[in-house]
Amino acid sequence: MSINIKPFFVSANVHNSHNYIRDLRSRCFADQENKAKETNLDLVGGFVLEPIGPNRKMGKLANCKSESEPHCVSKNIMKVQNLARIHRIESHHPMENEKKLLVLDLDLTLISGSHKERPFLHQFLTHTYQHYNLVLWSDSMMYRIRRILKKLKMHRHEDYKFSFYMCCNSVVYVQKGRREKKCKPLELIWRQFPAWGPHNSIIIDDMARNFLMNPQSGLEIEKFRGGEDDTLPQLAKYLEKIAGMDNFSTLNHNEWQNV
Ligand SMILES: [Mg+2]
Repeated sequence: MSINIKPFFVSANVHNSHNYIRDLRSRCFADQENKAKETNLDLVGGFVLEPIGPNRKMGKLANCKSESEPHCVSKNIMKVQNLARIHRIESHHPMENEKKLLVLDLDLTLISGSHKERPFLHQFLTHTYQHYNLVLWSDSMMYRIRRILKKLKMHRHEDYKFSFYMCCNSVVYVQKGRREKKCKPLELIWRQFPAWGPHNSIIIDDMARNFLMNPQSGLEIEKFRGGEDDTLPQLAKYLEKIAGMDNFSTLNHNEWQNV
């Protein structure tokens, strides 16, 4: 995919820049979806016509309680699985089989809006890295993610490593009621790394809508806007407590502060 990014840098107008980013992103999604459609042409019967349910061979989406929930709506599942089929993650640190998977958001989860570290950030990552493969997934451009991680010395830390980063190009729009909402479907990771699924993965974010396609794996935390905050040490305790469990699928992460 070739994208001309020149207009973004020559524009001094913030409003135009935002418009440009929106346009750039929609072109990325359109490109991904077109690829998915092309791929899908070869898959009729093997994919599209498969019955939807928790025991399907393909995909590890959470059990469906109601067809009205976004993660149970057939076209959302198809959209995510089609993208998962062509989505490629470039890993820069190997995933360790004995560790669970921890997917972390960046903005307002690990850092504030002004890029200040959430208190105890490095201790949190060092501690959780003992039990979890770390993945960072931000709804932001990859160059910005890398720039922030480098600035905060998270990029090549000697005490913890991120297996890979995911950016806005991997965020998917799914239908929720009459609207489309952005979310971070873990299926995109699970498809490429089949040792991980709902039983051993957790995603932490300050926005619950990012869990629309895997609500059971999501843990929502308070937004960090600066100042004193002890969320990460509390979270580290919870993650350590559940790390030894065989199956996360039965946990209710909404209760994480009471455990
Ligand atoms: Mg966020």
